[in-house]
This record gives sequence, structure tokens and C-alpha cells, in this order.
Amino acid sequence: MDIQEQVDLAPYNSFGVSQRAAFFAEVQQASDLHQAREFVASRHLPIMVLGEGSNVLFIKDYPGLILYMNNKGKELLPGAGMLRAAAGENWHELVIFCLQKSLYGLENLALIPGTVGAAPIQNIGAYGVELEQFFVELEAFDLKTGETRYMSKSDCQFAYRDSIFKQDPGQKLVVLSVSLQLSQQPTPALGYAGLKEALTGEEATPQRVFDAVCDIRRSKLPNPKLIGNAGSFFKNPVVSRSKYETLCRAHPGIPGWDTEDSDLVKLPAAWLLEQKGWKGKQRGGAAVHENHALVLVNKDNASGEDIVLLAEEMSSSVLQGFGIALQTEVRIV
Ligand SMILES: Cc1cc2nc3c(=O)[nH]c(=O)nc-3n(C[C@H](O)[C@H](O)[C@H](O)COP(=O)(O)OP(=O)(O)OC[C@H]3O[C@@H](n4cnc5c(N)ncnc54)[C@H](O)[C@@H]3O)c2cc1C
Repeated sequence: MDIQEQVDLAPYNSFGVSQRAAFFAEVQQASDLHQAREFVASRHLPIMVLGEGSNVLFIKDYPGLILYMNNKGKELLPGAGMLRAAAGENWHELVIFCLQKSLYGLENLALIPGTVGAAPIQNIGAYGVELEQFFVELEAFDLKTGETRYMSKSDCQFAYRDSIFKQDPGQKLVVLSVSLQLSQQPTPALGYAGLKEALTGEEATPQRVFDAVCDIRRSKLPNPKLIGNAGSFFKNPVVSRSKYETLCRAHPGIPGWDTEDSDLVKLPAAWLLEQKGWKGKQRGGAAVHENHALVLVNKDNASGEDIVLLAEEMSSSVLQGFGIALQTEVRIV
């Protein structure tokens, strides 16, 4: 494994912010991780894993070793509908691969940027579907012990945009591959109103669901290749039902979605931010997208610090206006 020094991270994060990694190496196989482990241990350096950098914001130079996951491989496993993909595979390409193999379920998760290995980290989700519905197990390398571990769904503790990995700031575990169980029968999930509407009057075949999801995403979300962003910057907040009822009295029309727990209601962070007038606002080089109050963009050579200052201003306006503390979905490094 080739370990480079003082590498500019701009090409490796979807915000396109320029910070440096003291050390940077590409992981192509599991054995590279033994070398990485020895390298950081001997120099007492921090270590961080990076996929396609579509859910991170660098606000400072990174003083340790960044491992860029680029191990490849997709294989069908013996059980019906079972497959395994290496962490460095592109997620959207895996969704296409599954469609081609007549394995269904991932269509609603089409076009989510990033790698397969990062998908369990925040239990990626979109249009009413989450990774955990298909997840069977993952293989992870433990940087503390040097051992390989297999983790089941319950080990991963998946929740809304969350998993055990998000409580691992010291980066102990590196995901090497993910195994999924898909369906051999089409299983269209049309719970999301916009998707159902897009498919009105036609058969919701897996290919049509995939196409409709891609169309909706392309029309709503800015392409990070054209303007730097990391998708939704904040999570949708979850509040108690009594808090939601109080909010409804103070702010008639505030939307809320039921959750699995009848005492909890999820609110759209984008609506809260829109009420505070954030759409299209700009601070330095950082801005809020014109059409989507939840998406922060690198409009004009923004630094990570510019983006995080804008995000802080936005979340404090929501705290003042609604008494709700927004949590970031993006990992700030
Ligand atoms: C335009 C846009 C739209 C988006 N839409 C959605 C959406 O609809 N739903 C959604 O859930 N997300 C969405 N995202 C966020 C992002 O696509 C996902 O979080 C994705 O899983 C990140 O993948 P990545 O490879 O870029 O991870 P990175 O950004 O590189 O890393 C994210 C985190 O995962 C860790 N990590 C990455 N790989 C590994 C590994 N192999 N082992 C251990 N830790 C690892 C990193 O250390 C970091 O903490 C969107 C982002 C963008 C830019």
C-alpha cells in the first residue's frame, strides 16, 4: 500500500472543500489494513476511513492517515437473493447490478451517492426504504485488534440515519463488505407520495420505480459534480407527540409524520428551515440551495468553516423559533 503525504482532499469530498490529509492511502484489499494499523500505531496518529466523501465536511487539515476505500467485488451467494459487495463498490452501481440480476428491493435507494461500505454507517434511506430492510451481515476489520469480525443486523444497531458505527468516533471498525438479502419477486414500495404520484396509471415495475426515483432525485437535488454539497445537511428531528401538539397550536400547518413509536413524531427539517427563510441564503462562499432548505452548497470556493458557520446559524434559528435542536447528518471532521 502506497502511503502519500500532504494530500489535498478536495477531489475526495462532495463539498469539494480543500483541506489536507497528513497521510493518505488507498485500500484495495483487506491486507492493506494491517499495514495501515502498524503505520498509525508506530506514529501515534489518528485514522479515518473515507468512501466517496459524500457525507463528510472537512473543516481542518486531518493530522493522521485517511484510508480511501477502493476494494472491489460483487458476488451472488448460494442462498436465493443473497449477495455480497465489497466496501469500495459504488452504491448506485450495485443497485443497477441487482436490477440486472432480477434481484429487487433497492430501487428506492437508487442514485444515493457513495460507497457500499458507507451505506450501513448511517443506514442510508430514501423514499420510504432503508438499507436495514435488506441487510444480513457485514465483514469489518477491527483496527484496534487487527481481527476480522462479522456483524449481524442487531450488532449494527440500525436506526434512522444511525448505527453503532456513528458512536465509533475513534474509527475502530472498517467495513470491508456488506451482504444483503434481496427479493426475486418485485416488491414495489410506493409509500412516498411523490413516487406514487409519479407512477400513477402505470405498472410499478422495478425498472419504472428505479427510473422514477432517479428522475425525482435529479429534479430535486443538486448534482455534487456541478455544485459541491452533501445532500441533506441535517436529520429530520423526532419530537414527542405532546411537543408536536404544542407546535401545531403555535404553528398551524406544521407537517409531522408518524413513527413506529406512537409517542414520537418526525418533522421535516426542510420545512422548519424554510419557515425561517433560509432557502437561497448565502454567507461567504457557502449557501443554502435555492430549491431545498436542507441542502447546503459550496457556491463560491467555500471553506469547511464557512459551511459549518452557516449550518450553525441555521440550526440556532430553528432552536429559537421552534425549540428544536437540529442534528447534523453530515460528519464534520
Ligand atoms: C446529493 C446527495 C444526496 C444524498 N442523498 C442521500 C439519501 O437520500 N439518503 C441517505 O441516506 N444519504 C444521502 N446522502 C448522503 C451520502 O450519500 C450517504 O451517507 C453515503 O452512504 C455516503 O457514502 P460515502 O462513501 O460517500 O461515505 P463518506 O462520506 O466517505 O463517509 C461517510 C461516513 O462513513 C464512514 N465510512 C465510509 N466508508 C466506511 C467503511 N468502509 N468502513 C467504516 N466507515 C466508513 C466515514 O468514516 C464517514 O464517517 C446524499 C449525499 C449527497 C451528496
